[in-house]
Amino acid sequence: MTQSFSNPRSGAVPQTPWETACALSRSRRDFLRSAAGAVLGSTLVSASPFLRGEEARRKRKIIVITFGGGARDQETFAPEGQDNIPNMLRELAPQSSFFTHVTNQGILGHYVATASLATGVYETLNNFSAVPPEHPTVFEYFRKDLKRPSSDAWVVAPSNGFNRIGESASRAYGQGTGARVILPKHLLSAANSGATANFEHLLRDNYENPLYTPQIGGGEVELQQMENILRLSVDDFMSHAKTLSSPDELSVYIARRLMQQEAPSLLWITMHDIDVAHSGAYSLYIEGIRRTDRLCLELWKAVQSEPEYAGNTTMFVLPDFGRDSDYDAGGNGFQHHRTGDAASRTTWMMVLGAGVRQGVVYEEPMQSIDLVPSLGALMGFSPEQSQGKPVRELL
Ligand SMILES: [Zn+2]
Repeated sequence: MTQSFSNPRSGAVPQTPWETACALSRSRRDFLRSAAGAVLGSTLVSASPFLRGEEARRKRKIIVITFGGGARDQETFAPEGQDNIPNMLRELAPQSSFFTHVTNQGILGHYVATASLATGVYETLNNFSAVPPEHPTVFEYFRKDLKRPSSDAWVVAPSNGFNRIGESASRAYGQGTGARVILPKHLLSAANSGATANFEHLLRDNYENPLYTPQIGGGEVELQQMENILRLSVDDFMSHAKTLSSPDELSVYIARRLMQQEAPSLLWITMHDIDVAHSGAYSLYIEGIRRTDRLCLELWKAVQSEPEYAGNTTMFVLPDFGRDSDYDAGGNGFQHHRTGDAASRTTWMMVLGAGVRQGVVYEEPMQSIDLVPSLGALMGFSPEQSQGKPVRELL
């Protein structure tokens, strides 16, 4: 039997979306306590282990991993899903501060939701158009306030639709003040001279709307990125690409290369494999979850093995939002995120690494838009237009 948070195993049946969200957060907390041995954050009184000195701040690196298309607890943290996320549950969660109640109150489309995560404002842009976010991004705040060069903020993004995510339309900032964006599919397309043969599985894009098929471009700019920034020859890149099985594997490969060659202090990676769920194939959805679980550990291990990152990196992992429950008549279960029900809006965040309390689970509610102010508080920049607030438990 599968479990739904609309129908919890015990206790009163939740009535309102808020009660459902709280029940979801609570049961997620309990799964983590029993499977990962996490303790409740509210029982802690110790001061934050974050180092506040100027030197520590200057060296600090932040990696943010978001998933485009979350997964439900019955396929992840609940007992019946735990086999799908062995690495997150047994390796990463025990080292993490884990937040079980993250609400996305914005539009549930992947580009607009990722833009909201990056600006700290619920953006209202058209999810299916390549436009910049309206409000300043975390990358612009970070670079302006801390006077960092463009090489210090990078985004690895899944598709053409994300190519404007690095900087906003805000006049207070402007062109060239945000993150540099790398689109691994474009690199691959450029390296393959525009041909898609043999690489269709790495170029799959946008599972959500079959009518929207962004052009996978890729040309001179991408070839220069490959040669001058990643320091990869086309031959090496192509021979490695042949060993990969999904777009997210390609993204992680590029992210690791960026870590080695550019060592950005702010690195944002958006993954998208799980969203294959829109196809309706449950087995592919599960495969996407398992792959994402493996790739998160791979990135965490890369942090430990890179001298620029080991010991001074804080990694954030969070889905952009959830997926529909099995019990909302307006949806079709795991397949989509179109009902706006509590399951599709209530997600989580895992934070681990430098300065983070380990093995702690928090159920205090937070919102997607609280990410940017939290990053600002940790790194020492001021996201003045963000509408969220720093997560107290991280400070
Ligand atoms: Zn989706």
